[in-house]
Amino acid sequence: MGAIIAVANQKGGVAKTTTVHTLSAALAQRGRRVLMVDLDPQACLTYSVGMDPDRESLTIHDVMLGRAKADEVMVEVDGLSLVPSSIDLAGSEIHLLTKTGREFVLASALRPVAGEFDYTFIDCGPSLGILTINGLTAASHALIPFQCETLSDRGIGQLVETIEDVRHYTNPDLAVLGGVATMFDGRTRLSRAVLESVEERHGISVLPPPIPKSVRVAEAPGSGVSVLDHAKRSKSALAYRELAISLEVRI
Ligand code: ADP
Ligand code: MG
Repeated sequence: MGAIIAVANQKGGVAKTTTVHTLSAALAQRGRRVLMVDLDPQACLTYSVGMDPDRESLTIHDVMLGRAKADEVMVEVDGLSLVPSSIDLAGSEIHLLTKTGREFVLASALRPVAGEFDYTFIDCGPSLGILTINGLTAASHALIPFQCETLSDRGIGQLVETIEDVRHYTNPDLAVLGGVATMFDGRTRLSRAVLESVEERHGISVLPPPIPKSVRVAEAPGSGVSVLDHAKRSKSALAYRELAISLEVRI
């Protein structure tokens, strides 16, 4: 079975979705078989690959409700496989709350398909609710994108505590792969200070390199491709390719 990597941070806008899409594309370009799972009702990952989340007939929502199997929902896009999402997924949270074994729904859905991929990335939404717990319970590793913004950011600490809980109750094998510094502006002293302090304060390692802030990355979702194709030679594209190598060295 390949690695299943939950990309999580309950804070919105820290580049979880961007990291899932771009890192997956970088690994696919290196010949790896990659599956992406959009586990956010906002369906930004589904949109980023050029699909219309409102027009997909089957999505992760059907999987979470037990109405469809993961391989029935999967689509192929640009050499990647995707389990798409839609706004309907917001409703599955309520459904899951009344269900026994609710933390394990995604884990059992992915078990039959994950073996076909070297890497499966789960794009978690901006919460620590039952969907994200499903993501962490299904995963072998957690990857934590964060923005080097403020030293007082308690978000990573809360996430690390949640990961401890998941290890204790539902997934003892979950490993923290590390952090990814996103939207990095190396010119500011604050960015450099946050980057240096994260490892020490939260006991996680940060995978090199930091991903530079660039308008080229922000433009990419509008064109339905990652920055690797949108701006091949940009610093951000280069950084995500290097990040893919960092990840391969570790798993
Ligand atoms: P999340 O999934 O954590 O909510 P997103 O991946 O959707 O975050 O990113 C939030 C916004 O920041 C998006 O508009 C995205 O295009 C933009 N963004 C992500 N990475 C970068 C970057 N390196 N430079 C500039 N903008 C970025
Ligand atoms: Mg997102």
